[in-house]
This record gives sequence, C-alpha cells and structure tokens, in this order.
Amino acid sequence: MIDQHTHTRYSPDADQKTTCLSYVNQAKLLGFSGVMVTDHVDYDSPDPLFQEMIDYDVYFKDIEHVRKQTGFDIRVGVELGYQACSISKMKALVSAYPFDLVIMSLHLVDGEDPYYGDYFKGKTQEESIRRYFKAVLKSVEQFDDFDVYGHLDHIIRYGTFETRTYDLKRYQDLIDEILKTIIRKGKGIEINMSGIDDITKSPYPSIDVLKRYKALGGKIITIGSDAHTFRDLGRYFLEAKSILIDVGFDEIAIYQERKPVFFNIHEVL
Ligand SMILES: [Zn+2]
Ligand SMILES: [Zn+2]
Repeated sequence: MIDQHTHTRYSPDADQKTTCLSYVNQAKLLGFSGVMVTDHVDYDSPDPLFQEMIDYDVYFKDIEHVRKQTGFDIRVGVELGYQACSISKMKALVSAYPFDLVIMSLHLVDGEDPYYGDYFKGKTQEESIRRYFKAVLKSVEQFDDFDVYGHLDHIIRYGTFETRTYDLKRYQDLIDEILKTIIRKGKGIEINMSGIDDITKSPYPSIDVLKRYKALGGKIITIGSDAHTFRDLGRYFLEAKSILIDVGFDEIAIYQERKPVFFNIHEVL
C-alpha cells in the first residue's frame, strides 16, 4: 500500500517539519510498502504563499538521496492546481520531470479561492456549488496531462452554509459529464480521506459520486490521505477500503511512471 496524496514542507500549507524521510519512517510503522509525495504546484495563484515555485531539480535530487539512504520505494507525484490561464505552464512541468502521478485539483474557481469567503458572496449554496462543478468540467475538458482528479467535490467544505452535504441529483448533469469525460480520457479519481475528520465527515468525492463513477464504468481509483503532516499518513485507509468495497470496487490503482497498476483491495489493505 502507498498513500498517493501527501504533502511535505515543500507545500507552503504543510507542516514545515514534515519531510519525505518522515513519511518513509511513518510508512514503515504502518507497514506500507512505499511512499508517494505529491506537493502543490498552483501556477498563477493569487495567494503569495503559493507563488514560490518548487525547484524540481533540487527536489528530485533530495528524493534520490532519501531513496539511497533508506532503500525504500519512494515515488514522486504532484498535485497540480488547474487554471485555464496556466495550461501551458502545467504542460511544461509535467513533461519536464519524471513524475509517477499527476493529480489535477481545482483550488481556484475562475481565479477565486473558495477558502476565502468572497467566492460565496451573493450566491446561494447551490449556485456556488454549480459554478465550482462547471469549472471542474472545464478543467477535465481542457487539460489532458493528468492521471487522477483530486478531491472532486471539496467545495462542500467551504463557505458559511449550514449543510455540508449536497444532493447529487441537483448537479447530476454536470457531475455525469465530469465523470464521463474522466473515464473517456482514461483517467481516474481519488478517494480523498481528508474530509472524514473535517467539517463534512465525508470522503471527497462523496459516496454518492463514487457510486455514480462506478455505475458509469469508472475503474481507476486511488486512495489518498491528503496528509499535510507525516502523522496523517494513511489516515482512514481502512474506512476507505470499506467504502470502496461497498461501492463495488475490488481493485485500487497505484501509480508508477504515470501508469496505474491494479491491486486487489483485500490484499493490500
Ligand atoms: Zn488540494
Ligand atoms: Zn493535497
């Protein structure tokens, strides 16, 4: 088992003591077979913290050093934030470095970060969610160079609304198009477990969306904790296993060199 969504101190919002080596040590404690680091790259972010770019020449050398030091299976992914204006930079990065996995995530909706309340001003919850899913759809239509879509519906955790759930049927037109596009392009999604102890108490995407993905023929699914500290490595993976089995997935994908390798979920967790 490998947790395929983790952030080290190279991500500005991560615990600055968390290194690749600390994940290796934690993975050994958990009995995982390897680690995958997926730090943030958000081109053209309005947030100054995210404007400083990782020097991947240094980054890959660092990882190689830890690999030699520990002999552990260490893979390198990236969580690439989509913006229409950044497509050429995103493509250039992905082709320049030998990533094992590219997670595409939508952190900004038309340049606005829902993390800050302004995005929701003057909109109902339904309007806010709809606008987010429209932007997700645009991203999967316009960008091909990714492997799995990150936390597909995490818009639900933001804003000051009372409810943190949504009725899939209200957005089914958009969600179906998103999922069908992902499937048609041979891409996958992740089940992101960061929501379980978050305000939503739900994986991202929700179980209803996972069921829809399965019903539409989706096969590629990864499990990620979205850890921002080594202590969260592998969090709620047993819950992920039981959710995936309930939804009807027997296999999970673990990426190496941008290709999914499928494992029986009962054997790896
Ligand atoms: Zn993210
Ligand atoms: Zn993340």
